[in-house]
Amino acid sequence: MQTVDAVVVGGGIMGSASASCLARRGWSVVVLEQFEPEHTRGSSHGRSRICRLAYPDPFWIELARAAWDGWRELEADTGIELLVRTGAIDHGDPGGVQAIETALAAAAVPFEMLDRAEAERRWPGMRFDGPICHQPDGGRLAAGAALRALNDRFEQLGGVMRWNTPARALERAGEGARVVTDDETYEAAVVIVAAGAWLEPLLGPQLALPRLVVTQESAFHFAPRESLPWPSFIHHGAVARYGLETPGEGVKVAEHHTGPEMTAATRDFVVDDGARDRVVRFVETWLPGLAPQPVSEVTCLYTNTANEDFVLDRVGPIIVVSPCSGHGFKFAPVIGRMAADLADGAAPVSRFALTAPR
Ligand SMILES: Cc1cc2nc3c(=O)[nH]c(=O)nc-3n(C[C@H](O)[C@H](O)[C@H](O)COP(=O)(O)OP(=O)(O)OC[C@H]3O[C@@H](n4cnc5c(N)ncnc54)[C@H](O)[C@@H]3O)c2cc1C
Repeated sequence: MQTVDAVVVGGGIMGSASASCLARRGWSVVVLEQFEPEHTRGSSHGRSRICRLAYPDPFWIELARAAWDGWRELEADTGIELLVRTGAIDHGDPGGVQAIETALAAAAVPFEMLDRAEAERRWPGMRFDGPICHQPDGGRLAAGAALRALNDRFEQLGGVMRWNTPARALERAGEGARVVTDDETYEAAVVIVAAGAWLEPLLGPQLALPRLVVTQESAFHFAPRESLPWPSFIHHGAVARYGLETPGEGVKVAEHHTGPEMTAATRDFVVDDGARDRVVRFVETWLPGLAPQPVSEVTCLYTNTANEDFVLDRVGPIIVVSPCSGHGFKFAPVIGRMAADLADGAAPVSRFALTAPR
């Protein structure tokens, strides 16, 4: 039996950010991760993620802004560049883009609307559609480096990472909780459960969770035909397609929310042939700067709520952290802070409460 202030179940980006925030506040913390470092079975693997403020809803703009400061702080702490400003583009469906334009203007976020000729002059590897909104401060996150930086900072602060250590059971124990692993039991004042696609099977039997749908998404990298500048981009339409440069791997292109529904236990790691065909056609039409044959492909899990809002709440000693729906990574520093605030007794953000309408 080990007694600590907090146990964090899940060493993905959200568990790591939460653990790091708690350790900075002087808590003794153990992170239990069922797999090895940098495993590729969850939602946080890979080298790159889009980071942008361009949302149609001011709520997300303010949350992304707060996260931005958190990434800069982690960069300052570690001396590692994590957030690369390449510019972020939204184009395509007028309704979708204009809602973003309106929200950015209202939030006084620097942006510009470009005409097609100007956009294609700046990014000759791309073809543009409909209104084109450019957020110059947007860009990409070095995702793998960010996860390592959080884990390193956590351990430097005295935190303990237990890799290849699945939490088998979680139960109340007095005012706190007990977490059982194969070779140890931990008692803690709080347990943060940031288990990604495994959340429902782990906590569902004891906590009323909102409906969470796990999908297996496919993502592809393509080789640039020549050295060109690439922004992060979202092409809005019936199916939103997005992309960004991943240094050393090419340009990542994928569809948002077209993956088949699965569970963490039953997912098959098989790249979706239909998605590959559609993305290749998309590249042929809209990204002439890329050779249209994928040079690499991968699957990754989304844990989705009905309205893409996150779940961050506390019930007794258990703190639930489920911020995904395919857009969570960029928010990790502020999610970590919110989880630590819940551990310190703060109330949840109403929109993220377990009982919030979704
Ligand atoms: C293809 C794809 C593209 C994306 N693109 C973007 C993007 O451009 N921008 C953006 O902001 N977001 C993006 N996202 C979303 C983002 O990556 C996720 O929201 C984020 O990674 C979720 O992190 P997590 O820590 O909640 O989940 P995970 O990384 O899955 O972490 C959960 C961890 O818990 C562990 N675990 C589960 N059960 C147990 C147990 N019982 N004991 C111990 N450990 C356990 C798992 O092994 C796992 O490591 C994308 C996601 C995907 C899949």
